Amino acid sequence: MKKIILTGLRPTGNLHLGHYFGAGQNYLKMQEDYDFYLEIADVQALTDNFDNPEKVRKNVYEITKDLLAIGLDPNKVHFFIQSKIPEIAELTVFYSNLVTVSRLQRNPTVKNEIAQKKELFGTNGESITYGFLGYPVSQAADITVFDGELIPVGDDQLPLLEQCREIVRKFNSIYGNILKEPQQVLSNTTRVKGLDGNEKMGKSLGNAIYLIDDEETIKKKIMMALTDTNKIKKDDPADPDKCMVYYYHKLVNTIENTNTVCSECKKGARGCVACKKELIEAMNNFLEPIRKRRKQYEENKDLVKEILDNGTQVAQNKAKDTMKKIKDAMKIDY
Ligand code: SF4
Repeated sequence: MKKIILTGLRPTGNLHLGHYFGAGQNYLKMQEDYDFYLEIADVQALTDNFDNPEKVRKNVYEITKDLLAIGLDPNKVHFFIQSKIPEIAELTVFYSNLVTVSRLQRNPTVKNEIAQKKELFGTNGESITYGFLGYPVSQAADITVFDGELIPVGDDQLPLLEQCREIVRKFNSIYGNILKEPQQVLSNTTRVKGLDGNEKMGKSLGNAIYLIDDEETIKKKIMMALTDTNKIKKDDPADPDKCMVYYYHKLVNTIENTNTVCSECKKGARGCVACKKELIEAMNNFLEPIRKRRKQYEENKDLVKEILDNGTQVAQNKAKDTMKKIKDAMKIDY
């Protein structure tokens, strides 16, 4: 029996290079080794997009196509839609008795997110909704309703998993040893910088290269990428470590070509325009198989829906089994 691994993505936009190198690459390995549940977390996306349900709905399909396009195999991965598993919402209500409001307010991941969403939640989080504050509880329900044993997380997500383990321990201490404590798989996450040199690539920052970008868009974006500002003339030597073009060469070009970029840049033996053109070609070569697979799914929308329906069916069956055990233990099996 393969161990169950579970992860989720909020459907709020298309995937970009940051998602691919930060998570997608790991997913491709995980699908070979684990029983892989991949949640399209539409309910969680609504916690800070509750006034824009159309955006969330559209992106459920967009993100699924992106994930299939990077090479995830629907025969190995259970793609499912969170809102179609009502047991998660039910379990969230039960778990909400096992966690205090002050504990949620102290959760570092939640605190960071509130600080980043000042326009929505107020300068000091005074307008935070009950739903957003409680999303770690809903995430604990996501994980445990599928008996999730392994959870791929980056460092910044560890407090959420610890919160889940606390809920599990509390539940088991009251109702009996029913739930498994999930363990983290600290994945080889690479945080990808933005075209402007920002530490993070993101939609709201306007500095992302999307997997869906076509050749023309790639050309425009790379021609605008930040280079070493000290290099004025074509033959000025420069520092490739201060240049986003070199940074992306390292991600998508061969080691040999990347080494050449580095040494020629340092010697002043290459101009930035030529260097960018070379990157445009390498980036398009990298994205081309992803674009091809995505096109197949674009042309067969029924297949995408069928993949989500099938994965959701598997997830529903699993959630029903777990909920039966939980309700028996809580004496609410009327
Ligand atoms: Fe960047 Fe290439 Fe210009 Fe060097 S030559 S600064 S690596 S774009």
